Amino acid sequence: MAIIIEPSRIATDGDDLEGEEPSEALGLPADEEAQAAGPIRYELNVQLAGRELIVTGEVAARIRFACSRCATPFETDVRDGSFFYEQELEDLHSPVDLTGEVRESIILAFPTYPVCQSACRGLCPRCGANRNREQCGCTETTEPIGSVFDSLDVRERTEHGRT
Ligand SMILES: [Zn+2]
Ligand SMILES: [Zn+2]
Repeated sequence: MAIIIEPSRIATDGDDLEGEEPSEALGLPADEEAQAAGPIRYELNVQLAGRELIVTGEVAARIRFACSRCATPFETDVRDGSFFYEQELEDLHSPVDLTGEVRESIILAFPTYPVCQSACRGLCPRCGANRNREQCGCTETTEPIGSVFDSLDVRERTEHGRT
């Protein structure tokens, strides 16, 4: 139930360490919107240079998110392809537990605004219909004329600003 490295056993040209940890190792609270949907997976290379422990590689986990546009739950792989850990060891004979580092790097790789698909059309702001699944028939131009002009104005200004 942990990713343990024993420094004294690392081969002089390094070791490859591959495996899985149960999804509970992510420690996501039950009321969190993101939930683990599969084990933590890791493919690491472990090197010992003098007393310096250097670990690089890839860590990943399958996570269930709620889409930030349409609220539909979906699963995706969250991956950190450049996992890096370095530590000066005081005692080469005491094992190093990397579980916390791996968990943290996966959680840091979570998308800020997870979306079920990049083309997700989200929910209708008027009736709440999921626009990926149905056309609700709400018209977009029922706002007062003044505010339509306002937004046109803004769009024009930003376009000019870019040139
Ligand atoms: Zn969506
Ligand atoms: Zn609608």
